[in-house]
Amino acid sequence: MGMVSFYPGPSRVYPKVKRYLQDAYRNNIVSINHRSDEFVSVSKRTVQLLHEKLNVPADYTIYFVSSATESWEIIAQSLINEQSIHLFNGAFGKKWFEYTGRIKPGATAWPFTLHEKLKPVAFTSGDTLCITQNETSNGTQVTNKLIQQLRAKNPGHLIAVDATSSMAGVESDFTSADVWFASVQKCFGLPAGLGVLICSPAALKRAAEVNHRQHYNSLLYLHETMQQYQTTYTPNVLGIYLLMRMLESVKPIKKVSGTIKSRYKKWETFFDTKSNQLNFLVRNKTVRSHTVLAIEAPAAKVQQVKAAAKKAGFLLGNGYGDWKNTTFRIANFPAIQRNEIARLMDFLYSYI
Ligand SMILES: *Cc1c(COP(=O)(O)O)cnc(C)c1O
Repeated sequence: MGMVSFYPGPSRVYPKVKRYLQDAYRNNIVSINHRSDEFVSVSKRTVQLLHEKLNVPADYTIYFVSSATESWEIIAQSLINEQSIHLFNGAFGKKWFEYTGRIKPGATAWPFTLHEKLKPVAFTSGDTLCITQNETSNGTQVTNKLIQQLRAKNPGHLIAVDATSSMAGVESDFTSADVWFASVQKCFGLPAGLGVLICSPAALKRAAEVNHRQHYNSLLYLHETMQQYQTTYTPNVLGIYLLMRMLESVKPIKKVSGTIKSRYKKWETFFDTKSNQLNFLVRNKTVRSHTVLAIEAPAAKVQQVKAAAKKAGFLLGNGYGDWKNTTFRIANFPAIQRNEIARLMDFLYSYI
């Protein structure tokens, strides 16, 4: 039996991906031209399915990009006027802030701590708020409710949300922000190399004001080519096809979200009540991620568990950034099978 990956990205892909890949080869999807009618119909159907399965509002537009990192750059170039404010408590939010600062020097950090719930502050400066909804590095999340409160307090700001390790796993209220993005190697359960960028009408209005046209991935160009369901460069056609097939087969996000939440509850019971040696890094339950679990233990114990897990056929995620040596991470992504979770829990029993 192969290794079961609980790595929070790149992560376990849906078992059906094997068949989709075979179909893609057999049906010559791997060689189609990105200006052809065949591509356009795959692209169009994928966009429709994203709206349908993820509940993306009809007036929000969807673009194919290469990654979440590219989305950071697109936002910095095409949407931020002068000053973005970055609300973060972990490594990915920090990276986004640093990255943006190199393009738009006005970027301002608004860090908060791991155990603290983000406060819905009314910002008196800045034009764009940048929020990492699910912080993959430490297993925390910002709830829909909080994003809604930030929206209410900051009607003049554009709100951009990095949902890389939650989109397609938990339900988002897309209307509460203007820009959402993710790459597909996390909750979408697909191979890496494709990202999805979603924009509100207000985001497009801002793009027109900023009028950035210096780069191939300027949002205005993405938008122009997407009128024909095309992209500005030759995209990851295979990745888009796999996304289409996966979306055809998954349940609507409300249902998927319910499954993820109930699996998370089982993990919560497992670590919070049965273990005193392995604990959630984040003690405050209200800020814990439902899709990425960060488990804390002394460094030697973390080493031991990871090594034994590998021998038993489970790949656990390494700790990340500040928590590299004292945590390991467990993905709670939809592509992971129920029996695989049960087997990992059985295995971890001897270490709790
Ligand atoms: C993985 C991840 C990224 C980076 O994704 P890429 O596809 O490598 O660009 C960005 N933000 C978050 C929150 C992530 O989990």
